[in-house]
Amino acid sequence: MTHILHRSLRQTPPVAVGGAGVYLYDSHGRSYLDASGGAAVSSLGHGHPDVIAAMHRQIDQCAYAHTAFFTTEVAERLADRLVANAPAGIEGVYLVSGGSEAMETALKLARQYCVEGGEPQRSLFIARRQSYHGNTLGALAVGGNEWRRKPFAPLLIDVERVSACYEYRGRAEDQTVDQYTAMLLDELEAAILQAGPDRVIAFCAEPVVGATGGAIPPTPGYFRGVRALCDKYGILFIADEVMCGMGRTGTMYAIEQDGVAPDLIAVAKGLGAGYQPIGAVLVNGAIVERLRAGSGAFLHGHTYIGHPVAAAAALAVQQVIERDDLLTQVRLRGAQLRAMLDEEFEDHPHVGDIRGRGLFLTLELVRERAHKTPFAPELKLHAAIKARAMENGLLVYPMGGTIDGRHGDHVLLAPPFVVTQGDLGEIVGRLKESVEGALKTVA
Ligand code: PLP
Repeated sequence: MTHILHRSLRQTPPVAVGGAGVYLYDSHGRSYLDASGGAAVSSLGHGHPDVIAAMHRQIDQCAYAHTAFFTTEVAERLADRLVANAPAGIEGVYLVSGGSEAMETALKLARQYCVEGGEPQRSLFIARRQSYHGNTLGALAVGGNEWRRKPFAPLLIDVERVSACYEYRGRAEDQTVDQYTAMLLDELEAAILQAGPDRVIAFCAEPVVGATGGAIPPTPGYFRGVRALCDKYGILFIADEVMCGMGRTGTMYAIEQDGVAPDLIAVAKGLGAGYQPIGAVLVNGAIVERLRAGSGAFLHGHTYIGHPVAAAAALAVQQVIERDDLLTQVRLRGAQLRAMLDEEFEDHPHVGDIRGRGLFLTLELVRERAHKTPFAPELKLHAAIKARAMENGLLVYPMGGTIDGRHGDHVLLAPPFVVTQGDLGEIVGRLKESVEGALKTVA
């Protein structure tokens, strides 16, 4: 018997055998309406003919060529396109195979930038408690997901941590949103000063938090304040858009809506939309120039960087998003989904918060609304909702976890950009049934 460690060791999940549009199919002929795109990955849905054709063409032409010897036209074209659509100042691209690799790459690039600038004493990252940046050791170190970090804690580099911008939980009743934002920025500045500003490499944050709480958008002005503090102390700002980027929130990059340009941006998930494993780090021109004028090379590399078939898939995804004006579609469908969720759950006694941006929306479940009391962690309500949803032929991304000693149950919705209004109605109907069914098991 083979023990397969990339899935549950206790349970064998259904076997996926096909997919078309917003549906996935298993080997028993059951269909699942994919309301989370996996983990906010499948932005074009399943079986998209244009992406598949582009991958076939690339495989026929040149499936692989190592970057030590060659580049490929498709990787160059993808890089050009990513830069052309990126926030101000981004001039460089480094193509990798996923989100953790992208974050790992961004962390190392930021450190090398400091070393080549004659500041080798900069060795500290500041990140937020409510954050997930990946599972490799560097990315895990900057992440704030306690249960994922715990067994590996002795292996992780020290990271300074500040509060995330999480208005529902963080803002006091007598605080205005502006006061709350100012408080968070004061906390960040204090952390920088405490660490010693010339010791800090970068501040890392997800513009819209994903896996540790679900679609938590920042308050207005928060990231402008972050950018100002980073500039004041010569610290880089790394935006982790692995989950919230590539159109998911209605703009290509979530941070565009905050009017801010990061120094480094990590993307993945929606970049290849699930058709290929691919991620990228987008790099400010000043970082590129310092390395060019200094050592001349970034000390990094993986066997599959710039993989041509992955690049072909990502390029095709980008072309479809532009050709079919899918960002407009995300904004439209996102507003429709939000309205439907509000109508169905706004007064629900166990839904404490409905939030998000674009087609990246979350319900936060609570035992009791007035005090925002969470359900007990051992009830695993989020897992019960996921299981119930699968029985109802619906895929939602459940999240539960304890951060700063506080448990939360969240359900993330991130349907493909091609979802129709009818699909949205179906999603919300099945979700309602799944939430009610799961609540009965924990009540
Ligand atoms: N960063 C964020 C914000 C993520 O949500 C994730 C994955 O969920 C990662 C990084 C890690 O990406 P991957 O799972 O592709 O390694």
